[in-house]
Amino acid sequence: MSVREIVQIGHPVLREPARPLAPDEVGAPATQRLIDDLIDTMRAADGAGLAANQVGEAVQVCVAEVRPGNPRYPYKPVIPLTVLVNPVVEALTAETFPVYEGCLSVPGLRGVVERAVEVRVRALDRDGDPLDVVVRGLSAGTFQHETDHLHGTLFVDRVADTRTLCTWDEFRRRHEAAFAERARALVARFGS
Ligand code: ZN
Repeated sequence: MSVREIVQIGHPVLREPARPLAPDEVGAPATQRLIDDLIDTMRAADGAGLAANQVGEAVQVCVAEVRPGNPRYPYKPVIPLTVLVNPVVEALTAETFPVYEGCLSVPGLRGVVERAVEVRVRALDRDGDPLDVVVRGLSAGTFQHETDHLHGTLFVDRVADTRTLCTWDEFRRRHEAAFAERARALVARFGS
């Protein structure tokens, strides 16, 4: 297990659609090492999630986790550690909510993205067993962000109003309080 270098926007691997894994590849030592590295790297960087192409491997594996008190996302509800192989995310409603997103591959920048409030996530877990869950609220946005990576899409592609783009410092200074208020309302409604 090790903390890997996170590639940054401009690196072509972030724009490459990731290759799905065959079921018998999931248990392979190389895949299991990659999953461990993704978890270590995400935690070391205080991320809410990390996709394999962010460490330079264009395969359909991503992880998500929000532990209490995450300094990058203090308003995010807890997400238990989740490993997704070959994830498919399907919106269960046309309702969206605006969320300030950031990304470890886009350092220092945040912007507003519309995300579905309720999604179904189907994938394999790290043991190759099928996983089929419904995710709601703010956490639904996290899963949409991570699976976007596996299709070569970054949050900045989904920022409809580029005037919402801001640095981390300006987000903190000018936008975080109002956004955290909206986030809390969403979390109160969905419990996640
Ligand atoms: Zn990201």
